Amino acid sequence: MTDRNPAANTGRKRIAILGCTGSIGTQALDVCRRHADRLEVVALTAHSRTRELVDAAREFGVARVAVTDAARRSDPALADLPAGTSCQFGAEAAVDVCLHDDVDCVLVAIVGAAGLAASAAVLASGKQLALANKESLVVGGELLMPLAREGQLIPVDSEHSAIFQCYLGERAERAHAIWLTCSGGPFFGRTRAELEHVTAAQALAHPTWNMGAKITVDSATLMNKGLERIEAMHLFGVDMDFIRVVIQRQSKIHSMVEYEDGSVIAHLGASDMRIPIQYAFSYPDRWETPAPRVDFRELGSLDFAAPDADAFRCLALAERAGRTGGTLPCVMNAANEVAVAAFLDGAIGFTDIDRVVEACMDAHAVEPVQTLEQLADVDASARDAARRAIRARR
Ligand code: NAD
Ligand code: MG
Repeated sequence: MTDRNPAANTGRKRIAILGCTGSIGTQALDVCRRHADRLEVVALTAHSRTRELVDAAREFGVARVAVTDAARRSDPALADLPAGTSCQFGAEAAVDVCLHDDVDCVLVAIVGAAGLAASAAVLASGKQLALANKESLVVGGELLMPLAREGQLIPVDSEHSAIFQCYLGERAERAHAIWLTCSGGPFFGRTRAELEHVTAAQALAHPTWNMGAKITVDSATLMNKGLERIEAMHLFGVDMDFIRVVIQRQSKIHSMVEYEDGSVIAHLGASDMRIPIQYAFSYPDRWETPAPRVDFRELGSLDFAAPDADAFRCLALAERAGRTGGTLPCVMNAANEVAVAAFLDGAIGFTDIDRVVEACMDAHAVEPVQTLEQLADVDASARDAARRAIRARR
């Protein structure tokens, strides 16, 4: 077996990026570009944007790429792949390209439950997992966390990167609470009645973060915060009540950990995902920032508020899923993915998202989580149920 210690090879950490054409993926490529002396990109995947994939493969001279949507097999863009770059197709190809011996660290930046198989395979392989794909933990946290060795799984989600850093050098058993911060999204302050008629274009205009469409809608419904609460339960081994959601409108406090003695350690910085992405690659070191620094003299105020759980019902649904556990978070996540896509297509209204998710959760007979195959079956059934619920609403 090849030595996985990067210093024994090129001296650079060798990175695979799954979902390299998305918001996180392209920002990760930017981090790799800025730190080319420390990071080497060796494998990339994309679902359907083959032109962007080929451009990145050429720029970084990668050994392998995968196109996870096999229907893109004959895309003309693929003819421009460099001669030395191999190309595979299909969902399993994303796992294949990152498990080679020349990979030290895999960034899973795929959106949705589609990232779960790769996250599990990376942890089982012993390679470092830089995890942006929060749905992996929401759906399969009970299977993933037992696979993770100390220091192997570094969260990329900004709040979880922040919490991870607030725990560094501390005794975890002395923590009293996690304060999970939330921007409040574009519809902060609206009533349930006002939310009934908001459009996809309005939901896509996030005030502080520029992200992929699915997570942007999740941020507008606050499902994103519900998913993140479950993500934090798994990552930090705490229960639902330990994690309190607080609106922090400026998105400058990325989260906080409160300790027994009343001290609260917060993580602050620019609202730029390249910072937590880079930290996942540099950990435990820190490198020159990719983002403009925050000048606190110009920031003005930091505002806090409690979330409005009556208007934003996804928060309570996620709380129920997290408390119940088993296969219920998988069902919630799958129904949410289908409902968000339907909302973006104009097939349902904004508040129908939580109605569809709730209907699917109500109809599900919860089972203990046992295997990835079981979760794939539950996920598929929940998607069918969500499609039926959507048809019923039209
Ligand atoms: P995105 O939609 O911009 O990009 C998704 C990427 O996944 C693309 O490269 C796409 O090709 C790939 N992909 C899509 N469907 C796929 C499938 N079925 N199989 C394999 N690959 C597929 O999404 P994003 O905003 O970059 O988010 C990626 C992940 O990171 C999500 O889980 C999201 O919750 C998480 N995250 C994103 C941000 C952010 O700022 N964008 C912040 C925190 C966490
Ligand atoms: Mg986040």
